[in-house]
Amino acid sequence: MRVHLTTTAAAAVRRGHPWVYRDGIAGGGTAAQRGERRRGERARGEPARGGAAASGDVVELSAEGATFLGRGLWDAESAIAVRVFQRTQAPQLNERALAERLERAFALRDGWFADRDTTAYRLCNGEGDRVPSLVIDRYDRAAVVRLDGGMLAPWLDRLLPHLARALGARGVRSIGLRARPPSAGADADAKKLAHLHGPPLPDRLLVRENGVAMEVDLARGQKTGAFLDQRDNRARVRALAAGRRRVLNLFSYAGGFSVAAALGGAGRVTSVDSASAAHASAQRTFRENGVDPAAHEFVTADAFDFLEKAHARGDRYDLIICDPPSFAPSERAKPRALGAYRRLHTAVARVLERGGVLCAASCSSHITAEDFLATLDDATLERDDLRVRAIHGQPEDHPTLPAWWEGRYLKFVVLE
Ligand code: SAH
Repeated sequence: MRVHLTTTAAAAVRRGHPWVYRDGIAGGGTAAQRGERRRGERARGEPARGGAAASGDVVELSAEGATFLGRGLWDAESAIAVRVFQRTQAPQLNERALAERLERAFALRDGWFADRDTTAYRLCNGEGDRVPSLVIDRYDRAAVVRLDGGMLAPWLDRLLPHLARALGARGVRSIGLRARPPSAGADADAKKLAHLHGPPLPDRLLVRENGVAMEVDLARGQKTGAFLDQRDNRARVRALAAGRRRVLNLFSYAGGFSVAAALGGAGRVTSVDSASAAHASAQRTFRENGVDPAAHEFVTADAFDFLEKAHARGDRYDLIICDPPSFAPSERAKPRALGAYRRLHTAVARVLERGGVLCAASCSSHITAEDFLATLDDATLERDDLRVRAIHGQPEDHPTLPAWWEGRYLKFVVLE
């Protein structure tokens, strides 16, 4: 099928942006391309009829003055109608071409993680590795696949033998598929992992990150199990923690930053998360690293409530890590999100000791680094003693493309 793009969408594709939104199709496309259904004709999820493409079909992109702009895969359901895989005529877009790109992505990681100090990392970062929609995370002997959008699901059976071979050669035994987040009302405790290949995947397993043991909940954890994108920042926190008496880790999840701080020499680390299961996992990770969790504090609470009470008690911390879940899932949510970051940072600054270090993170691509820094300015923090020591992002196993700004979502600001 040929898809004709608007001038704006075509310009983005020429720059190398890998997404075509449905409104980037010229004239809105045919009704079927717009994903519209004639009344009573077909329900969500059924394949398109009447000559329209189905999810996973290869489409050729054209625009005013360009008969061939590139090739991509069609998604009949999501807001992103096409993910663009290539802007050249040859080679054909087939599983062989995808397998070659995957092999390239895996081979790069072989070099980056050769020393085995780190056994959990991202093997393929979708668009950033030029395999749009396909994310693969490695957790030692297990790999977890996540598909963004619906275009690659029909390809999975054909790709799996390639994956099994390429990953098997690198010591990966089992491959699982991260199912879409359960819908509202679904059992939040349900397993989110389906088996694809090899021996059954364990629900939980231990990996190593820069030599630190880390428990990962493959079956029910966040993302594909862990926040691999914070690996370098956890190492930074470890270095920053030396000699700090009291450390506060807000939104601590499985305690990655907490154990980094403890191993870095912090006196007492307080981890705050609203999920008690996350603390149980964090405590097992502490023990695996020879750190007694009893010497530290794990608080199951809302972070905002905790900060209010800590301030009222007069508690102060020498190092604070604040890495909340994404406050801005969409552009529309941005003003509210900025307000939430501001309220959070005001409360955090009140419990930061003079001379202390604040690490503030945001994982929302709609919030730029400058937007985020504006939620950490003097007026918000109600103090004028801090400087921006560094601004970090995601590690090299989460590559992006120059034109794909959405891929650069992580900000990790160190103020001192
Ligand atoms: N810093 C973590 C990732 C944080 S994920 C890491 O690097 O591994 C976000 C965490 O925030 C989740 O564990 C979730 O349970 C927790 N959370 C969400 N809303 C919260 C709130 N209002 N107060 C405290 N914790 C919250």
